[in-house]
Amino acid sequence: MSSTRKRLYIKTYGCQMNVYDSERMKDVLTPLGYETSDEAEGSDLVIINTCHIREKAAEKLYSDLGRLRPFKDAKAESGGMTIAVAGCVAQAEGPEIMRRAPTVDLVVGPQSYHKLPELIARAHRARGEALDTEFEVEDKFDLLPAERHVEGYSAFVTVQEGCDKFCTFCVVPYTRGAEWSRPVDQLVNEIRRLAAKGVREITLLGQNVNAYHGAPPAGREADGPWGLGQLLRHIALIGGIERVRYLTSHPRDMDEDLIAAHRDETKIMPYLHLPIQSGSDRILKAMNRQHTYAEYAELIARMREVRPDIAISGDFIVGFPGETDADFEDTMKCVREIGYASAFSFKYSRRPGTPGAAMPNQIDETVKTERLHALQALLDEQQTGFNRSQIGRTLPVLFEKAGRIAGQLHGRSPYLQSVHVDGPAELIGRIGMVRIEDASRNSLSGQLVGAEQDVA
Ligand code: SAM
Ligand code: SF4
Repeated sequence: MSSTRKRLYIKTYGCQMNVYDSERMKDVLTPLGYETSDEAEGSDLVIINTCHIREKAAEKLYSDLGRLRPFKDAKAESGGMTIAVAGCVAQAEGPEIMRRAPTVDLVVGPQSYHKLPELIARAHRARGEALDTEFEVEDKFDLLPAERHVEGYSAFVTVQEGCDKFCTFCVVPYTRGAEWSRPVDQLVNEIRRLAAKGVREITLLGQNVNAYHGAPPAGREADGPWGLGQLLRHIALIGGIERVRYLTSHPRDMDEDLIAAHRDETKIMPYLHLPIQSGSDRILKAMNRQHTYAEYAELIARMREVRPDIAISGDFIVGFPGETDADFEDTMKCVREIGYASAFSFKYSRRPGTPGAAMPNQIDETVKTERLHALQALLDEQQTGFNRSQIGRTLPVLFEKAGRIAGQLHGRSPYLQSVHVDGPAELIGRIGMVRIEDASRNSLSGQLVGAEQDVA
């Protein structure tokens, strides 16, 4: 272990899985003497953790690299600055990045983060050798440090990577490879350690998390692979863990056991992120989503049957090739019928190498923009309405940190809403009961009503 402290700056783009990966890269580098810094300038190591899901990812990367150049030059006399590119753009375009950007010292794909110390050493010897974009995921989680540095009381844990669904708009199957699930025991060990550090809420992550099918715990081999429902129930038994969530699911993989787990296990929060992308059966077919709108609506109805208060969230894409006004109207109808508590919506982005990119009838940008505005106005209205429907209710809130105003606490409701309330700092890391008095599109506020549940 090195005794000299070095500064590490990581810039993270994209989804929560990248946030998790950035945390794990810090865990790998801490034993080498790296401490995280909030600024790239003056840092010894800068990592850009990229996302490839929508276009402009590569442009963003090259403009970041341009901004880093003067910092790297300035640091040349005092130990130098190593610049690494990680994430899905690294995976997809590694050799091109090394060729085009001489400021980059190393390129590391998502399955090779445990090899960072070796890659940094190799980059210091000879730049051209430090490129690792292996696809094998098997080793990574065994070889990452068991110790995780965590801040706060809610933590992400990646349980599944990759995807075999091949939706025609999506690069994930190409950048993250085939679906692969971590063994149950490995996850339980990681979560036990997090619980011992005070974590109370776990969000299980996967590009297609409900396709989880991990090796069962020791002694339960006869079960065969466990699904997500079994995993959630098992994690809910870990001492100290009070809340369990998961992201992001595909409608085709919502099996009966997972639905039943929402009915039986109160630690599974009443919140489901279940993207549909489009309300038009014609577009769903062209997207290769492998289900219809009616099947999706039926699934949501089942979820509401077992957990009537469940908050539904989703993702939508407007302007997929061939989308007509009537198809878009089907998406608006879907939103009105389902009723979303929150949602993410995007303009279709043409990803080279995916079938969608080669389809005829690509939609004009101005049409995409108009449709996105109309959809977002409706989704915003629904989100505000959902938040306001909580006024008068008393909700359990997990307090995560002090609020921006002195004396205020910030926490999350079971439905993942931000909640602000006046209260003592001792409540941070605990669940308190809050009577909701006001709500806007982005947050709730109210009064602490004392009867907090001490989970510390
Ligand atoms: N596996 C999840 C599913 O099937 O619903 C989605 C995971 S994907 C990483 C996150 C979201 O990015 C998608 O739900 C989709 O809405 C959006 N997305 C993916 N590819 C896109 C593209 N080419 N253009 C616009 N949005 C895209
Ligand atoms: Fe991409 Fe999700 Fe479709 Fe997989 S299921 S290809 S991650 S959108």
